[in-house]
Amino acid sequence: MEPTIYVVATPIGNMKDITLRAIDTLLSADLIVCEDTRVTKKLLQEYEIDKPTISYHLHSKLSKIDEIIAVLKEGKNIALVSDAGTPCISDPGSFLINKAREELGDELKVVPIPGPSALTTALSASGFTDSSFLFLGFLPHKKGRETLFKEIAASERPVVFYESPHRFMKSLESLQEFLQPGRKIGVARELTKMFEEIKIGTVPEIIDYYTQNADKVRGEFVVMVGSANI
Ligand code: SAM
Repeated sequence: MEPTIYVVATPIGNMKDITLRAIDTLLSADLIVCEDTRVTKKLLQEYEIDKPTISYHLHSKLSKIDEIIAVLKEGKNIALVSDAGTPCISDPGSFLINKAREELGDELKVVPIPGPSALTTALSASGFTDSSFLFLGFLPHKKGRETLFKEIAASERPVVFYESPHRFMKSLESLQEFLQPGRKIGVARELTKMFEEIKIGTVPEIIDYYTQNADKVRGEFVVMVGSANI
């Protein structure tokens, strides 16, 4: 068997958002490499998948990576998943893939198994773009933040970033400070979950809404900034 890493997208909330191919791949993997094994085990239980798992995250030691690569060297296949969505999109995985490529060369196959990502899910409902956009992942907490907001304001393309509930209001205030008045933004919260909410409006409208509804500043957020002409 050719050593293979299957990069498998998993649900971002609603457990039914998994592809048939993702289930087949997890069922046939020799080893499932996850971020947090407890999170992935819930998914595996839901689909009655009984496979060995190993945790892998951004701070994993090299010995852990070597352990995973040793499995590939035996000609086995691994499925790489993250806690939610698509691995390597603001999630760990790229270092492992690169290291495995370095060690196994052309012998290694890397097969993406596409599925949900908060990025594409949010954008698909935004009405902000049907072609290009700029994705910034998580914004830095301190250094470079102001420069980045200036770049967002200057961007002719819609801009998308991930945000935590703790920093959400702070980011809205920065958008208020740097964006041209009237520019639309979008907030996609708790996508595919029970309290899913998608709000589109100008920055003052969105700030006003979340100030009036402070109980909704919780969960997971994708923030989108429309291009100047929306
Ligand atoms: N790899 C994942 C993906 O493809 O979407 C993203 C992982 S990143 C560590 C987690 C961030 O993605 C969250 O802080 C949030 O900004 C965003 N996110 C993930 N799930 C979400 C959801 N259901 N609704 C809104 N945003 C979500």
